[in-house]
Amino acid sequence: MPARLRVLAGDCQVTERGDRTRTHRGRVVVLIKPDNTTLVHDADGYQPVAWLTRPESVVVEGDGAGFTVTAREGSRRLRVVAEEATASRALPVTEAGIPVGTCPDDGGPLVRSRGDVVCLDCERRWGLPAGASVTDATCEDCGLPKVRVERGEPFHLCLDPACDPLAEAVSDRFDRVWNCPDCGADLAVRYAPGRVYLACENGPDCETTLSIPSGIAVDECDCGLPVFETTTGRRCLDGTCPVDGRRTGENGTAR
Ligand SMILES: [Zn+2]
Ligand SMILES: [Zn+2]
Ligand SMILES: [Zn+2]
Ligand SMILES: [Zn+2]
Repeated sequence: MPARLRVLAGDCQVTERGDRTRTHRGRVVVLIKPDNTTLVHDADGYQPVAWLTRPESVVVEGDGAGFTVTAREGSRRLRVVAEEATASRALPVTEAGIPVGTCPDDGGPLVRSRGDVVCLDCERRWGLPAGASVTDATCEDCGLPKVRVERGEPFHLCLDPACDPLAEAVSDRFDRVWNCPDCGADLAVRYAPGRVYLACENGPDCETTLSIPSGIAVDECDCGLPVFETTTGRRCLDGTCPVDGRRTGENGTAR
C-alpha cells in the first residue's frame, strides 16, 4: 500500500503560532505528506505561505462542508480553517527516484532513490553496495537489473544480493591474493552485513583488516599491495600505507 498524501483546498484562514502569530487568508491548497509535513500553497511561486516540516501531530477535522487542519510541533502550531472546502482527497504517493528498470514480479517501475533501488508498485527495496551503478543488463535468473560494483575490478552482479552475493564474487577473485602489510600472511576476504573487507589470516595474532575501496586495481604500490583508482583519486589498498603517502606527494608536485 503506497502512502497517502492528503490534498485539501478552499478559502482558508491560515494561522501560524510560534515566536509570533501570523494570519493569512486566501484560496489555498493544503498538502499533508505521509511524514506529516504540512504545506499551505497559494497562487504564487514555489514557496508555501506557511508550513511545518514533520510536525509531531496533524489532525484533520471535517464537517462535510469545511475542514480544519491543526499541525503541532513543540510550541509551534499551524492551523488552517476552511468554511467551505473545494477539494479534499487522499492520493497515493511514493518516493521519486531515477528510473533504472522494471520489476520482474509485477512490471512496476524500479527507481534509484537514497542509495536503494525500490519498486514503485510492490515497494520491495534492494540496498546498493557503496559506489554501485545500475546497468541496462538484466539477471538471467530473476530478471532484476544488474549492478556494476568495483572492488579491485568491476563485478557485474544481480541487484538482489541473495541471487548473486558480492562477497562471493570478491572472494572468488581476491581471497588470499594479497598479503598482510603488517605480518605478510595472506589476506582473506570476509564479510559482514553490507560490507566486504580483507582480514589477515593470522588472526587473532594479527588483527589487521582492510576495507576494499570502490575502485579498480590499476597498479602495484611499492609496499606490494595494489593501487586503486577511485573516484577521489589513486590510493594504496592500505589506506595508511606510508609508501603510498610519499608517492602521491611526488605525483602531486610533478603534475
Ligand atoms: Zn514490484
Ligand atoms: Zn537475479
Ligand atoms: Zn597480519
Ligand atoms: Zn602501499
